[in-house]
Amino acid sequence: MKRRKVIQSLSTLPLFGALPLAEAGAKSVSKKRKRDVIAELGIRSFINAAGTLTYMSGCIMHDEVVETIDNTSKHFCMIDEVQDKVGEKIAKLVHSEAAMVTCGAFSAMTLGLAGVLTGLDVRKAEQLPHLTGTDMKSEVICQKCHNERYNHAFLNTGCTVVEVETIEDVEKAISEKTALLHFLNITAHAGQIKYEEWVALGKKHHIPTSIDIAADVPPVSNLWKFNEMGFDMVFISGGKAMRGPQSAGILMGRKDIVAAARLNAPPRGFTVARGHKVNKEEILGMYVALEKFISGDHDREWTEWEAQIARIEGAVKGLPGITTSVTVPELGNITPTLTISWDDSIVKVTGRELRDKLRFGNPSIEAGFSGLPLYYYQAGSDSIDPAIEGTLNGASLIRVTAWMLQPGEDKIVARRIREEILGATAG
Ligand SMILES: *Cc1c(COP(=O)(O)O)cnc(C)c1O
Repeated sequence: MKRRKVIQSLSTLPLFGALPLAEAGAKSVSKKRKRDVIAELGIRSFINAAGTLTYMSGCIMHDEVVETIDNTSKHFCMIDEVQDKVGEKIAKLVHSEAAMVTCGAFSAMTLGLAGVLTGLDVRKAEQLPHLTGTDMKSEVICQKCHNERYNHAFLNTGCTVVEVETIEDVEKAISEKTALLHFLNITAHAGQIKYEEWVALGKKHHIPTSIDIAADVPPVSNLWKFNEMGFDMVFISGGKAMRGPQSAGILMGRKDIVAAARLNAPPRGFTVARGHKVNKEEILGMYVALEKFISGDHDREWTEWEAQIARIEGAVKGLPGITTSVTVPELGNITPTLTISWDDSIVKVTGRELRDKLRFGNPSIEAGFSGLPLYYYQAGSDSIDPAIEGTLNGASLIRVTAWMLQPGEDKIVARRIREEILGATAG
């Protein structure tokens, strides 16, 4: 069967596109059935055993976040007042001078840099991204292994990114054009220059420093660690592990920079970031998500993830040709991650094929299928860099995480993976 046919036939099955498990069978059955637009349009919904991936719609928001969005949507507020009040609260929670809600970590990067470039000069804000012929700075310096694709956020301001490897390189690269020294947390150990050295370079040359920690909670302490370390700006996503709105994030940092970033942000209309609109529901939802995340019981949650992963591992461990391992990435997407790999002379399926069997099975399940770290997928879809994909398509492994599973879904994932592996095992 062609893939589209499979999708069509699956959408007529009872479980497919049904309400999420947590809602099914809830006490609301007697109430009028809510409109289910996902099912109405035949959109595939699925159990997410892959992770907090943007192209899979990120995360399931906390009930309290959804409630906040719902309650606040019935009122008008001045956007600037919402940002003022929320920013003050967030800054206290993350130990920074100031903060604002942006429409994601990427948006925080563009807005933060825009703020550095323009200060509070309205005319400059209207000039971005055209820097030539102005007295604005135009370069961001970062380590080569930190110059990842999300740095496109900086290019949007008109700046270019200059790559360096050593402290001497930085000293040489710094000029009157240098706007920002940027650091990427997930590749922190790959670069020669360490966090503190990076911050010190900024202080020495009076150039702001920034760090992208978009997907890097848990641990919850990362929310304040880099502010306390002295970074002038910290960028984080709201719609990953924090389970806030997928289209929200936070810019935290120096008061003057956040104020200047606000000048470049909506509701103001003639700026490079007018498209970075976040309405009051999401600004307030982001605040509640952050508060919930900080006060959450992270040890208990971790133990639950481990138990769920152990259940899925237990379902396949010991099957012929199967090897399992549970690891925790040191940086970025820090959650117990199960890798199931196999001897392809015994289990006759590739990782990608198994991923597809889970994806187009019933219920639909998404799992990671290559040897790539999760963050690789964040950029768009799993049609990643064709050069990399080609070499990994055939890899005999899948990857599973539990942090985006809803209660009870681990059992379904365990059963489905076991079924497919047994089905592919030479008899
Ligand atoms: C997810 C991610 C981003 C983008 O974050 P958004 O909140 O989706 O804008 C930037 N950098 C890294 C390292 C990420 O993982």
